[in-house]
Amino acid sequence: MEKIVSLCKRRGFIFPSSEIYGGLGSCWDYGPLGVLFKNNVKQAWWRSAVQMRDDMVGLDASILMHPMVWKASGHVDCFSDPMSDCKACKGRFRADTLEGDVCPDCGGELTEARMFNLMFKTFLGPVEEDAAMAYLRPETAQGIFANFKNVATTSRKKIPFGIAQIGKSFRNEITPGKFTFRTREFEQMEIEFFCHKSEAVKWYEYWLKERFDWYKSLGLREENIRLRPHDAKELAHYAEACQDVEYNFPWGWSELEGIANRRDFDLSRHQEFSGKDLTYFDEEKNEHYLPYVIEPSAGADRGALAFLVDAYDEDEAPTESGKLESRVVLRFHRHLAPIKTAILPLSRKAELMEKAGKLNQELRRHWMCEYDDRGSIGKRYRRQDELGTPFCITVDFQTLEDQAVTIRDRDTMKQERISLDQLYGRLAERLA
Ligand code: ATP
Repeated sequence: MEKIVSLCKRRGFIFPSSEIYGGLGSCWDYGPLGVLFKNNVKQAWWRSAVQMRDDMVGLDASILMHPMVWKASGHVDCFSDPMSDCKACKGRFRADTLEGDVCPDCGGELTEARMFNLMFKTFLGPVEEDAAMAYLRPETAQGIFANFKNVATTSRKKIPFGIAQIGKSFRNEITPGKFTFRTREFEQMEIEFFCHKSEAVKWYEYWLKERFDWYKSLGLREENIRLRPHDAKELAHYAEACQDVEYNFPWGWSELEGIANRRDFDLSRHQEFSGKDLTYFDEEKNEHYLPYVIEPSAGADRGALAFLVDAYDEDEAPTESGKLESRVVLRFHRHLAPIKTAILPLSRKAELMEKAGKLNQELRRHWMCEYDDRGSIGKRYRRQDELGTPFCITVDFQTLEDQAVTIRDRDTMKQERISLDQLYGRLAERLA
């Protein structure tokens, strides 16, 4: 992890938030490469969850919602973790994760555990009074439930159908940590899939496989991911079943996504608290009912971290003199790589720079490109390997004569000469 955190900082993937002021516990900023990479993770999710399907639509609900939403959802009363303080060093800990009954940092005496609600409070408008109190959403899902009727009546979708949403969520975690794995501000990618009660088990099984396969399709090695069913103690009281997609991080197996059969719990609670009829009329069955819900709920930051950890590799590459040198390479899936092609003029001769510059202008209309003319070609390859760029394109003196360039493949390091008029087609095919 240390190597990955340091690469993220050095190459501009992830910086500590407010670093010039000493940082802010558990908050991170995605730098120039990080924002491209995380956007690619979100786009890949959206593509598979919405674009490629007839039975899904998207939503972008606001972060601030009516406080009754959180009363109905159970978050005001139940979204809490037990917390203990150390009387000596004042450290705070999640009581359910402590191994002994003394402070893990200094061995001091701990206070009795008390429940701590994880929702952030804020105030709407200029007066800080209880009537104006609102919460920053701790999950995006409730925005979907609250809009179920709106979407069902306007989208012309018939059950079974789902609503997908990507957005920020906030939890005042007692013990954030492990880089971007557990933070107080994070992004979720959530699906609520509405179906008839009689089909809920079938759809639950379907989504378990669908979501597991999604991680695999983007390159996570199969031996590093698994589905783990919740045991009876973990299972939320309203859920009929739940499994987590877990990744084998350097510190052990940890959750990337939870997939739950939530029955009709959420819609029935919102129906009760809002007094509005949220039932769906099924024309085929000639039946009004509250649908059951299958919820695949993923974290964009956790997914991105797993893709990053899985992609990290060290091997050896030949230098210009033919000697082998160790290199760091991020073997990102081509859809997730922040930069798809790097255009490298072999030297800083004006003609080469001009030719390479033009090529860069042309290719960047299609995908993210980087132009780099500084340092030896070997160093530039190394840099692109560390960014996970699948293809480097070198423009050399011969290019001016034969209108051909060299493409270097990140993983095989093989080089191939290809004419400029075939370049776009070939790259498009390999990046598609
Ligand atoms: P954990 O047990 O790790 O706290 P959770 O079971 O409370 O997670 P869910 O409520 O199921 O998490 O949230 C769905 C997804 O949102 C998680 O699988 C995770 O990817 C993401 N997520 C939740 N909390 C955080 C957080 N503090 N930081 C980053 N991602 C988070």
